[in-house]
Amino acid sequence: MKKIVYIDLDNTLADYLGKCAEMGVNPAEGKHIEGFFRGLKPMPGAIESYGKLCQYFDVYILSTAPWSNPHSLLEKVEWVKQYLPSAYKNVIFSHHKDLNIGDYLIDDADKNGAKEFRGQHIKIHSDKFPTWDSVVEFILRQENIA
Ligand SMILES: [Mg+2]
Repeated sequence: MKKIVYIDLDNTLADYLGKCAEMGVNPAEGKHIEGFFRGLKPMPGAIESYGKLCQYFDVYILSTAPWSNPHSLLEKVEWVKQYLPSAYKNVIFSHHKDLNIGDYLIDDADKNGAKEFRGQHIKIHSDKFPTWDSVVEFILRQENIA
């Protein structure tokens, strides 16, 4: 049985902050705007890394949709369809990521249960895991995959 990897969307796969800068909105505000999640660009290396992980693991997108902006659910699914079509039916929305059973959670943040995740929380864009390459390299090494 393959191990399970969850991947966060905003600022992990998709460039949330880049879109905020482009629109000139405060990062705390972007997620509340209808249409905001359309047109987010992939983070550098994200799509390639997702593909690589899919070769060895069961990979799911685990994202939180702002309660106040239900359009975000649709817009995030559309983003996944556009950039990661192989994630078909592997998208999970939750404010409680710790309730998902699995081995790895790649997430830039501690919130919405990420910090309490019972597998290993790989905090991307931290000092330890500054890039997607560093994340993939770490996981493959830990799993003894060449
Ligand atoms: Mg995030």
